[in-house]
Amino acid sequence: MEEEITQPRSTLETEVMQQIQAKGINLVRFLYCDNGGVIRGKAAGGQRVQDRFKGGIGLTVAMQAMNSLDQLQVVDGMGGVGEVRLMPDLKTFRVLPYAPASASVLCNMTVLSGNNWEACPRSFLAKQIERAELEAGLSIEAAFEPEWSLAHRNGDGTYTALDETVCFSSIGMTITAELINDIVKALEDQGLIVELYHPELGHGQHELSIRHAGAMQAADNHIIYRETVRNVAWKHGLIASFAPKPFLDQAGNGCHVHLSAWSSGNSGTRRNLFYDAQDQYSLSQLAYYFINGILEHLPALVALSCPSVNSYRRLRPKSWSTAYTCYGFDNREATVRIASPLKGTESSSINLEIRASDNSNNPYLALGGIIAAGLDGIKQAKHPSKGKLVTIDPATLSQAERLERGITRLPASLDAALDELEADEVLHQALGGPLLKSYLAVKRSEANTYAAENELFELKHHFYKY
Ligand code: GLU
Ligand code: MG
Repeated sequence: MEEEITQPRSTLETEVMQQIQAKGINLVRFLYCDNGGVIRGKAAGGQRVQDRFKGGIGLTVAMQAMNSLDQLQVVDGMGGVGEVRLMPDLKTFRVLPYAPASASVLCNMTVLSGNNWEACPRSFLAKQIERAELEAGLSIEAAFEPEWSLAHRNGDGTYTALDETVCFSSIGMTITAELINDIVKALEDQGLIVELYHPELGHGQHELSIRHAGAMQAADNHIIYRETVRNVAWKHGLIASFAPKPFLDQAGNGCHVHLSAWSSGNSGTRRNLFYDAQDQYSLSQLAYYFINGILEHLPALVALSCPSVNSYRRLRPKSWSTAYTCYGFDNREATVRIASPLKGTESSSINLEIRASDNSNNPYLALGGIIAAGLDGIKQAKHPSKGKLVTIDPATLSQAERLERGITRLPASLDAALDELEADEVLHQALGGPLLKSYLAVKRSEANTYAAENELFELKHHFYKY
């Protein structure tokens, strides 16, 4: 019999095992986000988890062909035969403040030999981060800015918003003070840094943003965030909906993505390469190239960043969710908003905000797609055309004016966005065959299923899924 080779424990693994023992952890959730944007996982028993840290947990290959309604799609190589492994990244280990004796860890999907599986969304983001470093010497920082709605579930399966308070309402803050406090504490206990909070425009709607971090950590943080907000609200007897448009007559829930690109090096010498003090908007040429890349690929990109059927009820003109391929300084109707820098920290705070993004996306796919589009912009080295810079709401321009300025309407449905994604060579190249194929199959099937059902079915199935 062959002897097992015992690998020495890494320092990180030793620390994690100490936490598991000290906190009496019985279950460790191995989590991932799938092609449908749903966070799923399996848990390992606390006493047996160390082997699982090395060998992972088995997962049928079919899960990347499963849509968010649990309808399995036919995708080559993703049927009833074959396994991948959920392989944890121990840096993401967290003791869960909202579940007894439980912890979670975020995972890559690997093939049995240990290499990353080509259909793994988290590995896709890792690849784009690596490309940004190798091809352009950039270290991407990102922050997700999520909005969500608090509601009660009614007996008939519909939902009622928690309150009818107004935008930035201090009454809204008071009504939810205990819950928000528990959410902030739970997020900070897991190492996330809360940046800003306010009650938003919609009934029961809130926005609570997290400090920017390296791109992978930002996406990981967003998974931890969605889990935390949903679970803490649940403990308060409430549903936190991350659906893009949970109530048809209320503001939608966005999840804008903020980006900056930094030189590598240690924290003392790193520079935000999107900054140029000489420019009218404090942006560097590199940032303009990046914007151009985003604008060029936007119609296809939204298939990754706004990827649910419900997303397209939010992504409409005059909703501050943005609906056109244009950019502007502090323009909340432009899909790429140049966010005004803060006095005193101009060079570090200037950033781009991609507003066509919501919480029904898989953050690894959305952010990876955004980086791939921006890198293409840098490669093409073109400034966005003058006409695409808008200082007004682009919906107030006539169709002829928009046409002349090269401003187009974003896809108006998931199907239309998927058509664009199918036609986008740059995003194909970045995603690779297996991920693209499975993603398209899953998303097309969602579009088809909802097309055959009514509005109520759509709202119900998006309300409490993300
Ligand atoms: N709720 C808006 C959206 O759907 C965003 C409002 C804002 O914070 O500017 O993106
Ligand atoms: Mg907001």
